[in-house]
Amino acid sequence: MGNLRFKALERALAHQPVKTTPPSDKVSDYFGNMIFNHTAMQQYLSREAFLKLNEAIEKGNKIERKIADQVAAALKSWAVTKGSTHYTHWFQPLTGNTAEKHDAFSQPSDNGRAIEDFNGSNLVQQEPDASSFPNGGIRNTFEARGYTAWDPTSPAFIIDKTLCIPTVFVSYTGEALDYKTPLLKAIDAVDKAAIAVCHYFDEQVEKVSVSLGIEQEYFLVDTALYNARPDLMLSGRTLFGHASAKDQQLDDNYFGSIPERVIHFMKDFETEAYLLGIPVKTRHNEVAPNQFECAPIFEEANLAIDHNQLLMDLMDKVAKRHNFKVLLHEKPYAGINGSGKHNNWSLRTNTGINLLSPGKTPELNLQFLVFLINTIKAVYDYADLLRASVASASNDLRLGGNEAPPAIMSVFIGAQLTKILDAIESFTEKKEIPNNFKKQLDLNIEKIPEILQDNTDRNRTSPFAFTGNKFEFRAVGSSANCAAAMIALNTIVANQLVRFKTEVDALIKKHVNKEEAIFDVLKEYCKISRPIRFEGNNYSEEWIKEAKIRGLSNITSAPKAFKNLISESTLSLFEKNNIFTRREMEARYEIHLENYVKKIQIEARIMGDLAVNHIIPAAIKYQNLLIHNLKGLKELFAPTEYDKLSENNKKTIVEISEHIREIANNVEAMIEERKIANKTESVEEKSKAYNEKVLPFFEIIRDNIDKLEIMIDDELWSLPKYRELLFFR
Ligand code: ADP
Ligand code: MG
Repeated sequence: MGNLRFKALERALAHQPVKTTPPSDKVSDYFGNMIFNHTAMQQYLSREAFLKLNEAIEKGNKIERKIADQVAAALKSWAVTKGSTHYTHWFQPLTGNTAEKHDAFSQPSDNGRAIEDFNGSNLVQQEPDASSFPNGGIRNTFEARGYTAWDPTSPAFIIDKTLCIPTVFVSYTGEALDYKTPLLKAIDAVDKAAIAVCHYFDEQVEKVSVSLGIEQEYFLVDTALYNARPDLMLSGRTLFGHASAKDQQLDDNYFGSIPERVIHFMKDFETEAYLLGIPVKTRHNEVAPNQFECAPIFEEANLAIDHNQLLMDLMDKVAKRHNFKVLLHEKPYAGINGSGKHNNWSLRTNTGINLLSPGKTPELNLQFLVFLINTIKAVYDYADLLRASVASASNDLRLGGNEAPPAIMSVFIGAQLTKILDAIESFTEKKEIPNNFKKQLDLNIEKIPEILQDNTDRNRTSPFAFTGNKFEFRAVGSSANCAAAMIALNTIVANQLVRFKTEVDALIKKHVNKEEAIFDVLKEYCKISRPIRFEGNNYSEEWIKEAKIRGLSNITSAPKAFKNLISESTLSLFEKNNIFTRREMEARYEIHLENYVKKIQIEARIMGDLAVNHIIPAAIKYQNLLIHNLKGLKELFAPTEYDKLSENNKKTIVEISEHIREIANNVEAMIEERKIANKTESVEEKSKAYNEKVLPFFEIIRDNIDKLEIMIDDELWSLPKYRELLFFR
C-alpha cells in the first residue's frame, strides 16, 4: 500500500485545464435563457396573466387561482421545451443550504400512457416533510407537515432538466422554517418605513427597494488532494497542517494573473450563471494563494440572495468538471486569510434615487444624510444583533483574526463625512439666527457630492463601511446565507426610520419647520451614535481597548453572540416590526446552538481519528527508522564516536515521543470533555461546554501535529501538505 498523499499528488498532476465553449460568443445571446423572465412570460402567458403576474411581482398583489393555473401551464410548456422533465419547489431551510424535492411533470393517464401535468396548486404550494429540516422544536409531533409557497418575485429557473420554483417554507402552524420568509418581511418593512421618510422630500416615491451586491470569496483545491484530506472532506477545513514556507507574505496573489486551469473553471461557471440570469461581473485572485472572488452586479436583495445561494451550488457543480473542489468555509487554512462575503447594501426609490448617494441639491443631500445617519444609529443600537446575525462556528475562526473585520461592530464613513456629521452634532446657533442655520446647512450639505468624489479613502478593516453610495457589511461569512444578516440589517433600519419619523413629526406638530425638525433629530442621533463611528485600524490592539472604553461589545464566540437573538431588545424589535414571533426566534436560537455543537463535535471526532490513525502511526514509523539507524551506527563506530554521531537522532526520538504523548493525552482528555458536554441537558449549556471545554484542545493537538509534520520524513506523511493544497492548480 503506497502513500495516499503521493497517489493523490500523481492524480492531481495529471489534471489538465478543461476547456468549455459557451453557447455563443455574445453573452447577451444566452443571458437568462434558463429563467422564466419577461421575454418568456410574454411569449407563454396571455396578456391578462402577464399583467397580473407583473403586478404581483412589483406591488406584491396576491395571485388568484385562475391566474396561477395559467402561469403554471405557461411555466410547464416553457420548461418542457427546454427539456425539463421534473419540477421542484426550491427553498432555503435553516441548514444554510438550499433544498429541493423533485416531482415528475408526467402523470400516468387512463390510456396507459403519460401526460405532462402541472397545475396552479402544484405551482403555489407543496408539502415537504418539515421534520427532516431544522425547526427548533416548532414542529409538534402530530403535524410534521411544512408548506412551501411560491415567491413570484424571484423567477423560476431550470437546472439539470428540473424546473425550480423559488418558495418560502413555513410550518403547518405558520412559523417560518426558512430564511426567505423573514427576509421578504424585512424588505417590506424597510420599504414602508423608507417611503414614509422619503415623503418629507418627495411625495412621488411609491416604493423603496433594497439593493444588494454580494462579493463571494472562495478557495479552490484539486479534488485528488481534497479527497486525501478527510478533515477537508468532512468539515470543510484543515484541522492541521504546518504553514507553507511561502504563502501570502509576498502579497503576490491579490489581483495576480489567474492560473489557466482556474480561468477555465471560472469561465465555465460564469456561463452557467449567465444562463440563470445571474449578472456575474468581477473575478479576481484574492489575497491568499488559491483564493478567489466573484461578484455579481447588485440586484434587488431577495433576488441577490437567491442568486448567491444558486451561485454557491453552481460553483460546486461546475468545479467537479474541472477537478476542483470549491471551499466556501470561512477559514479552510490556518495562518492565511479566510473568506468572507461582503454585503453591499443600499436603498433605491422607484423614482430612481439611491438614498445612500449624495444628491445634486441641498434637499436631496439632506435626504441622503437622513438615511446615512439613521443607518448609523440603527447599527449603534443593534450592534449585538448584527454580530449575532453573522455568527457561526466557522466564522468564529475568521472574525477578529487580523484579516477579516473584528468581532467589534463599528461604522466607517470616511474623513469628509465625519467632518459633516461632527459639524451637525456641534451646531448650536440655529435657534437664534435662522438664516445662519440655512447657510450652515447648505454649507454642510451642498458640497457633499464633490467632496465624496475625491474622497477615495477606504478603510479595509471596518466591518461596516460606507463606500461612496452604499454600506458594505463585511462580517458576513463566505458560507453563510446572507439573508440572516440582511434580515437583521433591514429590520433595524426599518425600525429606526419609523422612530425617526415619529420624532420628526412630533417636532413638526410643535410648529418647528420641517427641515429644522429633521436637522434637530439628526443632530441628536449624531451625538448618541458617536461611539459606533471608528475611522482607525480595526485590527489594532488599541481599538480593542478603545472600544471597551466606548462601551462597545466584543463578542468573540458564536454561542455568546447567539444569546443576542433572544435578548429582550431583539425579541421586541422583531415582534414590533412583524418579522419574527418570539417562538420563531427561540426556535432559531436553538437551531443555531445545535448546529454549533454538531460542527465542533464533528471536528473533534475527525481530529481524534486523524491523530490516532494517521499522525501517530507515521511518527512511530519514522521513530523506528531512527532507532534502526542508531543500532547501525552503534555497530559501526567506537563508543566515543557513536555518542557524537547519535546525538541528533536521539534528540529527535525523544521529541517525537513527547509530541506523541501530548497528542494522545490531549485527544483522550478532549474525548472526556465531550462525554461530559454530551450529558448536559440544555443545548445552551452544551454549546458553552463545546466552546469553552472542547474547542481549546484543538490548538494544543494541532500544534503538536504541525511540529511533527516538519520533523518526520516527507515520504511517510500521508496527508497533503499546505504547500500542495495551496499552490497546486
Ligand atoms: P469593491 O471595491 O468593494 O469591490 P465594487 O464597486 O466592485 O466594490 O462593488 C462591489 C459590489 O457592490 C458589486 O456587487 C456592486 O454591484 C455592488 N454595488 C455597487 N453599487 C451598489 C449600490 N448602490 N448598492 C448595492 N450594491 C452596490
Ligand atoms: Mg468590497
